Amino acid sequence: MKNPWPATALEDVDVSPVEMPAPPLEPAAPAARRRRSLYGMTTTTATSEQSILDQVPKQLYIGGDWRDGSAGVLAVEDPATGETLCEVADASTEDAKAALDAAVEAGPGFAAHPPRERGEILRRAFDTIIERQDELALLMTLEMGKPVKESLAEVVYAADFLRWFSEEAVRIDGRYAVAPNGKGRVLTMKQPVGPVMLITPWNFPLAMGTRKIGPAIAAGCTLIVKPASQTPLSMLMLVKILEESGLPAGVVNLFTTSSSGATTAPLLHDPRLRKLSFTGSTEVGRSLMAESSDNLLRLSMELGGNAPFLVFEDADVDAAVEGAMIAKMRNGGEACTAANRFHVAAPIADRFAEQLAKRMASLKVGRGTEDGVDLGPLIDDKQRSKVAELVEDAVKRGARPLTGGHALDGSGYFYEPTVLTDVPENAALLREEIFGPVAPIKPFSTEEEAIAAANDTEYGLVAYVFTRSIKRALRVIEGLETGMVGLNQGIVSNASAPFGGIKQSGFGREGGYEGIEEYLETKYVAVNL
Ligand code: NAP
Repeated sequence: MKNPWPATALEDVDVSPVEMPAPPLEPAAPAARRRRSLYGMTTTTATSEQSILDQVPKQLYIGGDWRDGSAGVLAVEDPATGETLCEVADASTEDAKAALDAAVEAGPGFAAHPPRERGEILRRAFDTIIERQDELALLMTLEMGKPVKESLAEVVYAADFLRWFSEEAVRIDGRYAVAPNGKGRVLTMKQPVGPVMLITPWNFPLAMGTRKIGPAIAAGCTLIVKPASQTPLSMLMLVKILEESGLPAGVVNLFTTSSSGATTAPLLHDPRLRKLSFTGSTEVGRSLMAESSDNLLRLSMELGGNAPFLVFEDADVDAAVEGAMIAKMRNGGEACTAANRFHVAAPIADRFAEQLAKRMASLKVGRGTEDGVDLGPLIDDKQRSKVAELVEDAVKRGARPLTGGHALDGSGYFYEPTVLTDVPENAALLREEIFGPVAPIKPFSTEEEAIAAANDTEYGLVAYVFTRSIKRALRVIEGLETGMVGLNQGIVSNASAPFGGIKQSGFGREGGYEGIEEYLETKYVAVNL
């Protein structure tokens, strides 16, 4: 299959999805900002939307066959309109068990499949995704809501995991060492963990799948994937692409369901399953961990976040605002890595807040398929109500909105880009994951105070640090209790880097050299010479 991208063009692909527009000379009038506008021409037509929806397989994929769900169908909604886009199969507990049966049956054959061929299947899927990126981006926008340009960035980011792990498939090795007594030998070998269950969230419908499926296939594991019921379409297309790329039957099995708990729990208790990799909320992660204890499943948990964004007095304020726009507004704020609170050195806090508010006020809000839109809807009414409640709580306690602060009227689940200052210590949004376009700003006086504020959360996924001093940067980063840090940049996601958290953001790493280890067991052989 022909790859339209020259290899070098993709090497340095910029995964920062939002190219924010320059601020207007005058901020828009508040009344105008409260209305959702239909900006200019639309980038897509109803025909192109229907065309991609028609191409999505709507069934379960089990043992290499597409089949209906025994529990009927479930509707997939467009969060920009609240209307149903299409229906997909709804799996029953029996369907889920059939998916595990298929993964178990295909397991030994796939573990023995040549690593080079496993890698080439992933590489072909990567090429196809890149070739079809525009259609896949449109599909993602329809089911999830973010602007097409952001979906495009996710599609490329998602594909990159397949490319990265296509290269890792042939680098699985062990070691051979002389034992300390000089007589014996220590031999280790890596083997696939076995059948794995993958559960993914709605906020990155494709990338959260490839970040798990890529390393699982590279390692030689068979798998069952269950996407979020709100955004199953991108994953269904991914599985179709993997099938067309030559993946043997039974290696990937997919079920969509309106009963996540009831369908997955029996699998977690089935001794044939060996691992669960979950991305989603800490609350659900905790309950799945308890559920998995019966079987002592190997676990990878990519959970919630509450990322602090620290701006020190010596920082380049313009660059910090630029980074803040990406860290806050990537995915409309619906990212586990989203900057949840901004801790800014007191002498520059007002300037930072004003500049950030000006940029936020200039964002165009609308359906993600419309031309020039920067911010789409939130995923559903429940999420929008949660964001609204958090802002109301902060304002009630004394916070001051510099821009935004309201839900938008009309169909769909839109919320204004919002910046809050004078945020009191007891405001709930400093502790809870906001998952929306809201930036609370709090000044700090000393470096120690900034680190203490950053760590004052049960989460530990990512933090952002802006400073020109390398000594300060290293001091602060060593003191931060997070799995990742963005230094003078507002994005950390990169297929070649280990993504993951500590504390209640979970454990395990996805991407990088570490990513494939999550799907491998180490067998040690004591050799008696
Ligand atoms: P969620 O409610 O925890 O759901 C995540 C997935 O789990 C969905 O597929 C969901 O399916 C499924 N699920 C829910 N209850 C389940 C149960 N009892 N048994 C089995 N599966 C179950 O999270 P979300 O709202 O989709 O995603 C947002 C959360 O994900 C945020 O907290 C965010 O920080 C986190 N996240 C973390 C990372 C990371 O890498 N650390 C990345 C992205 C997102 P249904 O929705 O169909 O029930």
